Amino acid sequence: MTPTLAEFCDAARAFLDANAERAFAGEFIWGIGSDEITVYAEKSAADEQAAVRAAQQWRAKMWESGFGWITGPLAYGGRGLDPEYERIYLDLEAGYQVPSQTMFGSSLGVVAPTILAHGSEWLKDQYLARLHRGDVLACQLLSEPEAGSDLASLSTRATADGDEWVINGQKVWSSRAHFSDIGLLLARTDFEAPKHQGITAFIYPLDTPGTDVRPLRQMTGGAEFNEVFFDGARISDRYRVGDVNAGWSVFRTSLQSERASIGSRGAGYGGSGLAGLAAPQKVVQLAQQFGLADDPVVRQDLARLYTGYRLVEWNANRRPPLAPAATKYGTARHMNWAASMIARLLGPRICADTGEWGTYAWKQLLLGACAIRIGGGTDEVMKNGVGEAVLGLPKEPR
Ligand SMILES: Cc1cc2nc3c(=O)[nH]c(=O)nc-3n(C[C@H](O)[C@H](O)[C@H](O)COP(=O)(O)OP(=O)(O)OC[C@H]3O[C@@H](n4cnc5c(N)ncnc54)[C@H](O)[C@@H]3O)c2cc1C
Repeated sequence: MTPTLAEFCDAARAFLDANAERAFAGEFIWGIGSDEITVYAEKSAADEQAAVRAAQQWRAKMWESGFGWITGPLAYGGRGLDPEYERIYLDLEAGYQVPSQTMFGSSLGVVAPTILAHGSEWLKDQYLARLHRGDVLACQLLSEPEAGSDLASLSTRATADGDEWVINGQKVWSSRAHFSDIGLLLARTDFEAPKHQGITAFIYPLDTPGTDVRPLRQMTGGAEFNEVFFDGARISDRYRVGDVNAGWSVFRTSLQSERASIGSRGAGYGGSGLAGLAAPQKVVQLAQQFGLADDPVVRQDLARLYTGYRLVEWNANRRPPLAPAATKYGTARHMNWAASMIARLLGPRICADTGEWGTYAWKQLLLGACAIRIGGGTDEVMKNGVGEAVLGLPKEPR
């Protein structure tokens, strides 16, 4: 029976009370607690593994108590409830200290919705529940050295051999592939067809022999990205998602899911979660700390920060949701503006560590925010999308 919103809320609160500590509910106070600001992780391999384990344990608890896939179809283990129930759960969970869920960004924001929309019954049975339970982690194997914004130019090849596919080629910028179990792979299956029509999608088990995952270190210090090489790797046709040469429509689902989730509040991303890294109350105290809070230009900037923060938050809660390209672009734009404003407040303290609490720590936002403009599609490509699909402007020449 469908619970009422009030019943659901009581059950969610009881679950959170029993399993997690309450988050500090008071006002942010300058100098108290950790000043860490993380956009992209800067962890050792051991710390990263511990964070993944903690996140998986939390998702397993959510799953066992019926909060692991609130909106998912009953047939695949979900609760079959409206998005309003999920919003309530996320609002409540935000009041508790739970392990970071960022590693599930691709699993739940992209790969699971793609399997649900285009996968065979075998793929759905095999993966949907395990992805939401956190047992299986997924990444995206899309971009290549010569195919980013123009992804349809990709050249990783999948060649049919009986009921198997032989994969050869290279992917790059594959976030979290080094600890993922599977990846959503796009590969070229027809080199003669127009480029969008010769691509097929697969769910690729990363332990397939012939796969080499090599981490890439980024300027924030961490190594979340990878290059992935395929050298004669063989996978069964069961792992194909959608029809042969119909991979582009599969990809369009995954792309819309990713862009929407970057600006949303779902597991792994959290548009309002991202914006919360530069929450106005923190930045106001930063300005006060350096005697800048009465400066008229700084006050204008603080008002703009607050406005941008609220817009990101409201857009994340919109029903029906805003166009994914607009949500993603709005979040990226706000985060980059916030990072540059905070850098102006801090001056040299953001690039030389004086040891002072709450100063140099902001460098992670400054270095990490620019990646939000690129991952999931660049700002320019988002603007093209909004211009064409939302505003009905003429299409760019292709
Ligand atoms: C944080 C992050 C995470 C990522 N995670 C993944 C992942 O998990 N898996 C994966 O496969 N990839 C991932 N990527 C790669 C990402 O999808 C690509 O970097 C992105 O699509 C841009 O491609 P590119 O880097 O090749 O740049 P290019 O496409 O070469 O673009 C270069 C410049 O040209 C501009 N440009 C290109 N085309 C147009 C156009 N038509 N109109 C106007 N301007 C244009 C771009 O805006 C950009 O400024 C990630 C990237 C980042 C930063």
